[in-house]
Amino acid sequence: MAGEGDISEFEDLGLNEWLCNQCKALGIRKPTPIQKNCIPAILMGQDCIGCAKTGSGKTAAFALPVLQKLCEDPYGIFALVLTPTRELAFQICDQFQVLGKPIGIRATVITGGMDMLQQGLDLSVQPHVVISTPGRLADHLTSCDTFSLKRIRFLILDEADRLLEDDFGEQLETIFQRLPKKRQTLLFSATITDTLKELQEVALNKPFFWQAEYTTATVEQLDQRYMLMSADVKDAYLLHLLDRYSEENKTSSILIFTNTCKYCQILGMVLRELGFPCAVLHAMIPQRQRLAALAKFKSNQVRILIATDVASRGLDIPMVDLIINHNVPNRPKDYVHRVGRTARAGRGGMAITLVTQFDIRLVHAIESFIKTKLTEYETAESEVMKILSEVAVAKREAEIRLDEKDFGEQKQINKRKKLILEGEDPDEVEKQQRKRRLERGKQGKKKAKSS
Ligand code: AMP
Repeated sequence: MAGEGDISEFEDLGLNEWLCNQCKALGIRKPTPIQKNCIPAILMGQDCIGCAKTGSGKTAAFALPVLQKLCEDPYGIFALVLTPTRELAFQICDQFQVLGKPIGIRATVITGGMDMLQQGLDLSVQPHVVISTPGRLADHLTSCDTFSLKRIRFLILDEADRLLEDDFGEQLETIFQRLPKKRQTLLFSATITDTLKELQEVALNKPFFWQAEYTTATVEQLDQRYMLMSADVKDAYLLHLLDRYSEENKTSSILIFTNTCKYCQILGMVLRELGFPCAVLHAMIPQRQRLAALAKFKSNQVRILIATDVASRGLDIPMVDLIINHNVPNRPKDYVHRVGRTARAGRGGMAITLVTQFDIRLVHAIESFIKTKLTEYETAESEVMKILSEVAVAKREAEIRLDEKDFGEQKQINKRKKLILEGEDPDEVEKQQRKRRLERGKQGKKKAKSS
Protein backbone atom coordinates (compact mmCIF):
# COMPACT_ATOMS: atom_id res chain seq x y z
CA MET A 1 0.00 0.00 0.00
CA ALA A 2 1.38 3.40 -0.95
CA GLY A 3 1.88 5.91 1.83
CA GLU A 4 1.61 9.71 1.83
CA GLY A 5 5.28 9.94 0.86
CA ASP A 6 4.63 8.14 -2.41
CA ILE A 7 1.66 10.30 -3.26
CA SER A 8 3.60 13.50 -2.78
CA GLU A 9 6.09 12.33 -5.38
CA PHE A 10 3.82 13.43 -8.22
CA GLU A 11 3.58 16.82 -6.53
CA ASP A 12 7.38 16.94 -6.35
CA LEU A 13 7.44 16.95 -10.13
CA GLY A 14 5.68 20.30 -10.15
CA LEU A 15 2.23 18.98 -11.00
CA ASN A 16 -0.84 20.74 -9.61
CA GLU A 17 -2.84 19.19 -6.83
CA TRP A 18 -5.85 18.41 -9.02
CA LEU A 19 -3.69 16.33 -11.36
CA CYS A 20 -2.03 14.48 -8.46
CA ASN A 21 -5.49 13.70 -7.10
CA GLN A 22 -6.62 12.51 -10.49
CA CYS A 23 -3.64 10.12 -10.66
CA LYS A 24 -4.52 8.90 -7.19
CA ALA A 25 -8.11 8.31 -8.25
CA LEU A 26 -6.79 6.20 -11.10
CA GLY A 27 -4.64 4.15 -8.74
CA ILE A 28 -1.42 5.70 -10.07
CA ARG A 29 0.54 6.48 -6.93
CA LYS A 30 4.20 6.71 -7.78
CA PRO A 31 5.64 8.26 -10.93
CA THR A 32 7.43 5.82 -13.21
CA PRO A 33 11.02 6.72 -14.23
CA ILE A 34 9.95 8.23 -17.56
CA GLN A 35 7.38 10.38 -15.75
CA LYS A 36 9.84 11.41 -13.04
CA ASN A 37 12.39 12.49 -15.63
CA CYS A 38 10.32 13.99 -18.42
CA ILE A 39 7.46 15.77 -16.63
CA PRO A 40 9.61 18.49 -14.95
CA ALA A 41 11.42 19.22 -18.23
CA ILE A 42 8.15 19.51 -20.14
CA LEU A 43 6.66 21.75 -17.47
CA MET A 44 9.70 24.00 -17.80
CA GLY A 45 8.94 24.42 -21.50
CA GLN A 46 11.60 22.17 -22.99
CA ASP A 47 11.18 19.97 -26.02
CA CYS A 48 11.58 16.36 -25.01
CA ILE A 49 12.57 12.98 -26.40
CA GLY A 50 11.66 10.06 -24.13
CA CYS A 51 12.54 6.44 -24.76
CA ALA A 52 11.27 3.61 -22.64
CA LYS A 53 9.66 0.23 -23.03
CA THR A 54 5.96 -0.21 -23.62
CA GLY A 55 3.97 -0.12 -20.39
CA SER A 56 6.34 2.38 -18.81
CA GLY A 57 3.69 5.08 -18.41
CA LYS A 58 4.66 7.12 -21.48
CA THR A 59 1.17 8.42 -22.14
CA ALA A 60 0.78 9.97 -18.71
CA ALA A 61 4.34 11.37 -19.02
CA PHE A 62 3.10 13.73 -21.72
CA ALA A 63 -0.62 13.95 -20.88
CA LEU A 64 -0.08 15.25 -17.32
CA PRO A 65 2.15 18.26 -18.17
CA VAL A 66 0.03 19.10 -21.24
CA LEU A 67 -3.11 19.13 -19.06
CA GLN A 68 -1.41 21.37 -16.53
CA LYS A 69 -0.42 23.91 -19.18
CA LEU A 70 -3.87 23.67 -20.75
CA CYS A 71 -5.49 24.44 -17.42
CA GLU A 72 -3.39 27.63 -17.12
CA ASP A 73 -4.41 28.85 -20.58
CA PRO A 74 -7.34 26.87 -21.95
CA TYR A 75 -8.11 27.07 -25.66
CA GLY A 76 -8.49 24.77 -28.65
CA ILE A 77 -6.68 23.35 -30.45
CA PHE A 78 -4.02 23.31 -27.73
CA ALA A 79 -2.25 19.99 -28.35
CA LEU A 80 -1.92 17.63 -31.27
CA VAL A 81 -0.94 14.00 -30.66
CA LEU A 82 0.09 11.91 -33.66
CA THR A 83 0.27 8.16 -33.40
CA PRO A 84 0.68 5.35 -35.96
CA THR A 85 -2.38 3.21 -35.18
CA ARG A 86 -6.07 3.94 -34.72
CA GLU A 87 -6.46 1.86 -31.57
CA LEU A 88 -3.57 3.63 -29.92
CA ALA A 89 -5.23 6.96 -30.71
CA PHE A 90 -8.40 5.90 -28.87
CA GLN A 91 -6.36 4.64 -25.95
CA ILE A 92 -4.46 7.92 -25.62
CA CYS A 93 -7.74 9.82 -25.85
CA ASP A 94 -9.12 7.76 -22.98
CA GLN A 95 -6.18 8.72 -20.78
CA PHE A 96 -6.62 12.41 -21.61
CA GLN A 97 -10.36 12.18 -20.88
CA VAL A 98 -9.84 10.50 -17.53
CA LEU A 99 -6.92 12.61 -16.33
CA GLY A 100 -8.46 15.85 -17.62
CA LYS A 101 -12.00 15.27 -16.40
CA PRO A 102 -11.87 17.90 -13.61
CA ILE A 103 -11.18 20.67 -16.15
CA GLY A 104 -13.79 19.44 -18.62
CA ILE A 105 -11.25 18.43 -21.24
CA ARG A 106 -12.48 18.12 -24.81
CA ALA A 107 -10.40 15.55 -26.68
CA THR A 108 -11.17 14.23 -30.16
CA VAL A 109 -9.87 11.25 -32.08
CA ILE A 110 -9.37 11.70 -35.81
CA THR A 111 -8.53 8.43 -37.56
CA GLY A 112 -9.35 6.59 -40.72
CA GLY A 113 -12.30 4.22 -40.72
CA MET A 114 -14.63 6.73 -39.05
CA ASP A 115 -17.08 9.21 -40.55
CA MET A 116 -15.18 12.08 -42.14
CA LEU A 117 -18.11 14.53 -41.97
CA GLN A 118 -18.63 13.98 -38.25
CA GLN A 119 -14.90 14.41 -37.70
CA GLY A 120 -15.04 17.72 -39.60
CA LEU A 121 -17.74 18.90 -37.16
CA ASP A 122 -15.76 17.64 -34.17
CA LEU A 123 -12.74 19.61 -35.32
CA SER A 124 -14.72 22.78 -35.99
CA VAL A 125 -15.70 23.09 -32.31
CA GLN A 126 -12.01 23.39 -31.45
CA PRO A 127 -11.32 20.57 -29.03
CA HIS A 128 -8.44 21.09 -26.60
CA VAL A 129 -6.59 18.00 -27.72
CA VAL A 130 -6.67 16.24 -31.09
CA ILE A 131 -5.32 12.70 -31.25
CA SER A 132 -4.85 11.47 -34.75
CA THR A 133 -3.24 9.10 -37.20
CA PRO A 134 -1.31 11.11 -39.81
CA GLY A 135 -3.24 10.02 -42.92
CA ARG A 136 -6.71 11.14 -41.87
CA LEU A 137 -5.54 14.41 -40.35
CA ALA A 138 -3.63 15.25 -43.53
CA ASP A 139 -6.86 14.53 -45.47
CA HIS A 140 -8.83 16.96 -43.32
CA LEU A 141 -6.16 19.64 -43.60
CA THR A 142 -6.13 19.49 -47.37
CA SER A 143 -9.88 19.18 -47.83
CA CYS A 144 -11.46 21.63 -45.39
CA ASP A 145 -10.70 24.88 -43.59
CA THR A 146 -13.02 24.69 -40.61
CA PHE A 147 -10.16 24.29 -38.16
CA SER A 148 -6.58 25.39 -37.78
CA LEU A 149 -3.49 24.01 -36.11
CA LYS A 150 -1.70 27.36 -36.29
CA ARG A 151 -1.90 28.02 -32.57
CA ILE A 152 -1.08 24.64 -31.05
CA ARG A 153 1.23 24.78 -28.01
CA PHE A 154 2.18 21.10 -28.07
CA LEU A 155 2.98 18.61 -30.80
CA ILE A 156 3.40 15.07 -29.52
CA LEU A 157 4.62 12.18 -31.61
CA ASP A 158 3.84 8.91 -29.90
CA GLU A 159 5.66 5.81 -31.20
CA ALA A 160 7.82 8.43 -32.91
CA ASP A 161 10.25 5.94 -34.41
CA ARG A 162 7.52 4.30 -36.43
CA LEU A 163 5.97 7.61 -37.44
CA LEU A 164 9.32 8.82 -38.72
CA GLU A 165 10.48 5.63 -40.38
CA ASP A 166 7.40 4.06 -41.89
CA ASP A 167 5.25 5.35 -44.73
CA PHE A 168 4.01 8.48 -43.01
CA GLY A 169 6.56 10.91 -44.48
CA GLU A 170 4.34 12.74 -46.92
CA GLN A 171 1.39 13.01 -44.55
CA LEU A 172 3.58 14.29 -41.74
CA GLU A 173 4.97 16.94 -44.07
CA THR A 174 1.44 18.12 -44.91
CA ILE A 175 0.71 18.41 -41.19
CA PHE A 176 4.02 19.98 -40.13
CA GLN A 177 3.65 22.74 -42.76
CA ARG A 178 0.55 23.92 -40.93
CA LEU A 179 2.00 24.02 -37.43
CA PRO A 180 3.42 27.09 -35.71
CA LYS A 181 7.22 27.25 -35.37
CA LYS A 182 6.89 28.29 -31.75
CA ARG A 183 5.62 25.22 -29.92
CA GLN A 184 6.83 22.44 -27.68
CA THR A 185 7.60 19.17 -29.44
CA LEU A 186 7.55 15.92 -27.49
CA LEU A 187 8.70 12.63 -29.00
CA PHE A 188 8.05 9.33 -27.28
CA SER A 189 9.19 5.97 -28.46
CA ALA A 190 9.80 2.46 -27.21
CA THR A 191 12.94 2.04 -29.26
CA ILE A 192 15.62 4.63 -29.93
CA THR A 193 16.60 4.74 -33.58
CA ASP A 194 19.13 6.63 -35.68
CA THR A 195 16.35 8.88 -37.01
CA LEU A 196 15.48 9.90 -33.46
CA LYS A 197 19.15 10.49 -32.62
CA GLU A 198 19.50 12.71 -35.69
CA LEU A 199 16.43 14.66 -34.68
CA GLN A 200 17.95 15.27 -31.30
CA GLU A 201 21.10 16.65 -32.91
CA VAL A 202 19.39 18.96 -35.39
CA ALA A 203 16.55 20.17 -33.18
CA LEU A 204 16.54 23.96 -32.84
CA ASN A 205 15.44 23.99 -29.22
CA LYS A 206 17.92 21.60 -27.69
CA PRO A 207 15.52 18.95 -26.43
CA PHE A 208 15.65 17.24 -23.09
CA PHE A 209 16.57 13.64 -23.78
CA TRP A 210 15.81 10.72 -21.54
CA GLN A 211 16.27 7.03 -22.15
CA ALA A 212 15.50 4.19 -19.77
CA GLU A 213 18.60 2.27 -18.78
CA TYR A 214 18.03 -1.29 -19.78
CA THR A 215 20.60 -3.90 -20.63
CA THR A 216 18.12 -5.92 -22.61
CA ALA A 217 15.26 -4.72 -24.75
CA THR A 218 12.53 -6.87 -23.19
CA VAL A 219 11.25 -6.91 -19.64
CA GLU A 220 12.89 -9.20 -17.13
CA GLN A 221 9.68 -10.81 -15.86
CA LEU A 222 8.98 -12.19 -19.29
CA ASP A 223 9.51 -15.89 -19.91
CA GLN A 224 10.48 -16.14 -23.59
CA ARG A 225 10.12 -19.50 -25.30
CA TYR A 226 10.04 -21.05 -28.72
CA MET A 227 8.32 -24.12 -30.11
CA LEU A 228 9.98 -25.87 -33.02
CA MET A 229 7.91 -27.61 -35.69
CA SER A 230 7.69 -28.31 -39.37
CA ALA A 231 5.85 -25.54 -41.26
CA ASP A 232 3.04 -27.77 -42.57
CA VAL A 233 1.85 -28.77 -39.08
CA LYS A 234 2.17 -25.37 -37.44
CA ASP A 235 -1.54 -24.83 -36.84
CA ALA A 236 -1.96 -28.21 -35.15
CA TYR A 237 0.86 -27.23 -32.78
CA LEU A 238 -0.87 -23.92 -32.14
CA LEU A 239 -4.16 -25.62 -31.29
CA HIS A 240 -2.40 -28.11 -29.05
CA LEU A 241 -0.65 -25.26 -27.25
CA LEU A 242 -3.92 -23.35 -26.78
CA ASP A 243 -5.64 -26.43 -25.49
CA ARG A 244 -2.93 -27.27 -23.02
CA TYR A 245 -2.30 -23.71 -21.84
CA SER A 246 -5.98 -22.85 -21.35
CA GLU A 247 -6.48 -26.10 -19.47
CA GLU A 248 -3.62 -25.30 -17.09
CA ASN A 249 -4.48 -21.58 -16.85
CA LYS A 250 -8.23 -21.38 -16.96
CA THR A 251 -8.64 -17.62 -16.62
CA SER A 252 -5.67 -16.68 -18.75
CA SER A 253 -5.79 -14.24 -21.65
CA ILE A 254 -3.87 -15.00 -24.81
CA LEU A 255 -2.83 -12.73 -27.66
CA ILE A 256 -1.81 -14.38 -30.94
CA PHE A 257 0.10 -12.39 -33.57
CA THR A 258 -0.06 -13.34 -37.25
CA ASN A 259 1.65 -11.71 -40.21
CA THR A 260 -1.30 -11.16 -42.60
CA CYS A 261 -4.91 -10.04 -42.31
CA LYS A 262 -6.04 -13.14 -44.20
CA TYR A 263 -4.27 -15.55 -41.90
CA CYS A 264 -5.58 -13.65 -38.90
CA GLN A 265 -9.13 -14.11 -40.21
CA ILE A 266 -8.61 -17.79 -41.05
CA LEU A 267 -7.13 -18.59 -37.65
CA GLY A 268 -10.09 -16.88 -36.01
CA MET A 269 -12.49 -19.11 -37.96
CA VAL A 270 -10.48 -22.26 -37.21
CA LEU A 271 -10.29 -21.53 -33.50
CA ARG A 272 -14.01 -20.83 -33.22
CA GLU A 273 -14.79 -23.99 -35.16
CA LEU A 274 -12.66 -26.03 -32.77
CA GLY A 275 -14.21 -24.58 -29.63
CA PHE A 276 -11.98 -21.63 -28.76
CA PRO A 277 -14.05 -18.40 -28.65
CA CYS A 278 -11.86 -15.54 -29.86
CA ALA A 279 -11.83 -12.05 -31.38
CA VAL A 280 -9.81 -10.88 -34.37
CA LEU A 281 -8.16 -7.52 -34.94
CA HIS A 282 -6.68 -6.52 -38.29
CA ALA A 283 -6.72 -3.71 -40.82
CA MET A 284 -9.31 -5.33 -43.12
CA ILE A 285 -12.21 -5.09 -40.69
CA PRO A 286 -14.10 -1.82 -40.14
CA GLN A 287 -12.89 0.44 -37.34
CA ARG A 288 -16.01 -0.07 -35.21
CA GLN A 289 -15.53 -3.83 -35.34
CA ARG A 290 -11.87 -3.40 -34.46
CA LEU A 291 -12.76 -1.40 -31.36
CA ALA A 292 -15.49 -3.90 -30.46
CA ALA A 293 -13.02 -6.81 -30.75
CA LEU A 294 -10.58 -5.02 -28.50
CA ALA A 295 -13.31 -4.20 -25.97
CA LYS A 296 -14.48 -7.82 -25.91
CA PHE A 297 -10.97 -8.98 -25.16
CA LYS A 298 -10.29 -6.27 -22.60
CA SER A 299 -13.49 -7.10 -20.73
CA ASN A 300 -12.67 -10.84 -20.75
CA GLN A 301 -15.72 -11.77 -22.83
CA VAL A 302 -13.23 -13.68 -24.94
CA ARG A 303 -9.87 -14.81 -23.68
CA ILE A 304 -8.11 -15.09 -27.03
CA LEU A 305 -7.36 -12.21 -29.40
CA ILE A 306 -5.77 -12.86 -32.78
CA ALA A 307 -4.18 -9.81 -34.32
CA THR A 308 -1.77 -8.52 -36.91
CA ASP A 309 0.86 -6.01 -35.90
CA VAL A 310 -1.82 -3.29 -35.58
CA ALA A 311 -2.01 -4.50 -31.97
CA SER A 312 1.71 -4.70 -31.34
CA ARG A 313 2.34 -1.04 -30.62
CA GLY A 314 1.53 0.69 -27.38
CA LEU A 315 -1.93 -0.79 -26.92
CA ASP A 316 -2.62 -1.13 -23.25
CA ILE A 317 -4.22 -4.51 -22.94
CA PRO A 318 -4.05 -5.36 -19.27
CA MET A 319 -3.19 -8.82 -17.99
CA VAL A 320 -2.20 -10.66 -21.12
CA ASP A 321 -0.68 -13.83 -19.78
CA LEU A 322 0.57 -15.35 -22.98
CA ILE A 323 1.73 -13.94 -26.30
CA ILE A 324 1.98 -16.39 -29.18
CA ASN A 325 3.93 -15.36 -32.24
CA HIS A 326 2.31 -17.43 -34.97
CA ASN A 327 5.03 -16.17 -37.29
CA VAL A 328 8.53 -14.99 -36.39
CA PRO A 329 8.64 -11.22 -37.00
CA ASN A 330 11.08 -10.14 -39.70
CA ARG A 331 12.44 -7.27 -37.66
CA PRO A 332 13.69 -7.93 -34.10
CA LYS A 333 12.23 -4.55 -33.13
CA ASP A 334 8.75 -5.85 -34.03
CA TYR A 335 9.33 -8.88 -31.79
CA VAL A 336 10.03 -6.53 -28.89
CA HIS A 337 6.83 -4.59 -29.55
CA ARG A 338 4.76 -7.74 -29.75
CA VAL A 339 6.03 -9.32 -26.56
CA GLY A 340 5.69 -5.93 -24.87
CA ARG A 341 1.96 -6.73 -24.71
CA THR A 342 2.62 -8.99 -21.73
CA ALA A 343 4.56 -8.60 -18.48
CA ARG A 344 3.45 -4.95 -18.48
CA ALA A 345 3.97 -2.67 -15.47
CA GLY A 346 5.88 -5.33 -13.55
CA ARG A 347 3.52 -8.28 -14.06
CA GLY A 348 4.86 -11.64 -15.20
CA GLY A 349 4.08 -13.16 -18.56
CA MET A 350 5.14 -15.62 -21.22
CA ALA A 351 5.83 -15.31 -24.93
CA ILE A 352 6.01 -18.37 -27.16
CA THR A 353 7.23 -18.05 -30.73
CA LEU A 354 6.32 -20.76 -33.23
CA VAL A 355 9.49 -21.52 -35.16
CA THR A 356 9.75 -23.58 -38.34
CA GLN A 357 12.75 -24.77 -40.33
CA PHE A 358 12.63 -21.50 -42.32
CA ASP A 359 12.85 -19.18 -39.34
CA ILE A 360 16.08 -20.12 -37.59
CA ARG A 361 18.05 -17.13 -38.91
CA LEU A 362 15.31 -14.71 -37.80
CA VAL A 363 15.28 -16.21 -34.32
CA HIS A 364 19.04 -15.76 -33.99
CA ALA A 365 18.69 -12.11 -35.03
CA ILE A 366 16.03 -11.61 -32.35
CA GLU A 367 18.14 -13.33 -29.70
CA SER A 368 21.12 -11.13 -30.35
CA PHE A 369 18.90 -8.01 -30.38
CA ILE A 370 17.30 -8.80 -27.02
CA LYS A 371 20.52 -10.28 -25.63
CA THR A 372 18.55 -13.27 -24.36
CA LYS A 373 18.31 -16.86 -25.54
CA LEU A 374 14.79 -18.17 -26.03
CA THR A 375 14.24 -21.50 -24.28
CA GLU A 376 12.26 -24.38 -25.69
CA TYR A 377 8.63 -24.92 -24.76
CA GLU A 378 8.34 -28.69 -24.70
CA THR A 379 5.42 -30.35 -26.48
CA ALA A 380 4.35 -33.95 -26.87
CA GLU A 381 4.43 -34.57 -30.63
CA SER A 382 2.20 -37.61 -30.27
CA GLU A 383 -0.57 -35.40 -28.81
CA VAL A 384 -0.26 -32.97 -31.71
CA MET A 385 -0.55 -35.80 -34.23
CA LYS A 386 -3.92 -36.76 -32.75
CA ILE A 387 -5.50 -33.45 -33.80
CA LEU A 388 -3.64 -33.03 -37.09
CA SER A 389 -6.43 -33.98 -39.48
CA GLU A 390 -9.14 -32.21 -37.45
CA VAL A 391 -7.19 -28.94 -37.64
CA ALA A 392 -6.38 -29.42 -41.34
CA VAL A 393 -10.07 -29.93 -42.19
CA ALA A 394 -11.15 -26.88 -40.16
CA LYS A 395 -8.52 -24.79 -41.89
CA ARG A 396 -9.47 -25.95 -45.37
CA GLU A 397 -13.13 -25.17 -44.65
CA ALA A 398 -12.24 -21.72 -43.32
CA GLU A 399 -10.22 -21.01 -46.46
CA ILE A 400 -13.13 -22.00 -48.69
CA ARG A 401 -15.57 -19.88 -46.70
CA LEU A 402 -13.23 -16.92 -46.87
CA ASP A 403 -12.73 -17.29 -50.61
CA GLU A 404 -16.49 -17.29 -51.01
CA LYS A 405 -16.52 -13.97 -49.21
CA ASP A 406 -13.93 -12.65 -51.68
CA PHE A 407 -11.67 -11.60 -48.84
CA GLY A 408 -8.60 -11.33 -51.07
CA GLU A 409 -10.58 -9.56 -53.76
CA GLN A 410 -11.93 -6.99 -51.30
CA LYS A 411 -8.38 -6.29 -50.18
CA GLN A 412 -7.39 -5.77 -53.78
CA ILE A 413 -10.32 -3.39 -54.33
CA ASN A 414 -9.40 -1.38 -51.24
CA LYS A 415 -5.81 -1.11 -52.44
CA ARG A 416 -6.84 0.06 -55.87
CA LYS A 417 -9.29 2.57 -54.41
CA LYS A 418 -6.52 4.03 -52.27
CA LEU A 419 -4.20 4.33 -55.26
CA ILE A 420 -6.86 6.08 -57.32
CA LEU A 421 -7.50 8.53 -54.48
CA GLU A 422 -3.76 9.21 -54.40
CA GLY A 423 -3.87 10.05 -58.10
CA GLU A 424 -2.03 6.88 -59.20
CA ASP A 425 -2.94 4.48 -61.98
CA PRO A 426 -3.48 1.10 -60.20
CA ASP A 427 -2.65 -0.91 -63.33
CA GLU A 428 0.63 0.93 -63.78
CA VAL A 429 1.54 0.51 -60.09
CA GLU A 430 0.80 -3.23 -60.24
CA LYS A 431 2.93 -3.54 -63.36
CA GLN A 432 5.86 -1.85 -61.61
CA GLN A 433 5.42 -4.05 -58.53
CA ARG A 434 5.42 -7.20 -60.67
CA LYS A 435 8.59 -6.00 -62.40
CA ARG A 436 10.32 -5.34 -59.08
CA ARG A 437 9.27 -8.76 -57.74
CA LEU A 438 10.68 -10.45 -60.85
CA GLU A 439 13.97 -8.55 -60.52
CA ARG A 440 14.23 -9.44 -56.83
CA GLY A 441 13.59 -13.11 -57.71
CA LYS A 442 16.31 -13.04 -60.36
CA GLN A 443 18.79 -11.43 -57.98
CA GLY A 444 17.94 -13.99 -55.30
CA LYS A 445 18.60 -16.83 -57.70
CA LYS A 446 21.90 -15.27 -58.78
CA LYS A 447 22.99 -14.92 -55.15
CA ALA A 448 22.02 -18.51 -54.37
CA LYS A 449 24.04 -19.73 -57.38
CA SER A 450 27.14 -17.76 -56.48
CA SER A 451 27.11 -18.96 -52.89
P1 AMP B 1 1.62 3.41 -21.25
O1 AMP B 1 3.11 3.18 -21.21
O2 AMP B 1 1.28 4.86 -21.37
O3 AMP B 1 0.97 2.58 -22.31
O4 AMP B 1 1.00 2.95 -19.83
C1 AMP B 1 0.78 1.63 -19.49
C2 AMP B 1 -0.13 1.49 -18.27
O5 AMP B 1 0.50 1.94 -17.09
C3 AMP B 1 -1.44 2.27 -18.36
O6 AMP B 1 -2.51 1.41 -18.00
C4 AMP B 1 -1.33 3.35 -17.32
O7 AMP B 1 -2.58 3.67 -16.74
C5 AMP B 1 -0.40 2.73 -16.31
N1 AMP B 1 0.41 3.75 -15.60
C6 AMP B 1 0.79 4.94 -16.05
N2 AMP B 1 1.53 5.59 -15.11
C7 AMP B 1 1.62 4.77 -14.06
C8 AMP B 1 2.25 4.86 -12.79
N3 AMP B 1 2.93 5.95 -12.41
N4 AMP B 1 2.12 3.80 -11.94
C9 AMP B 1 1.44 2.71 -12.30
N5 AMP B 1 0.81 2.55 -13.49
C10 AMP B 1 0.90 3.57 -14.37
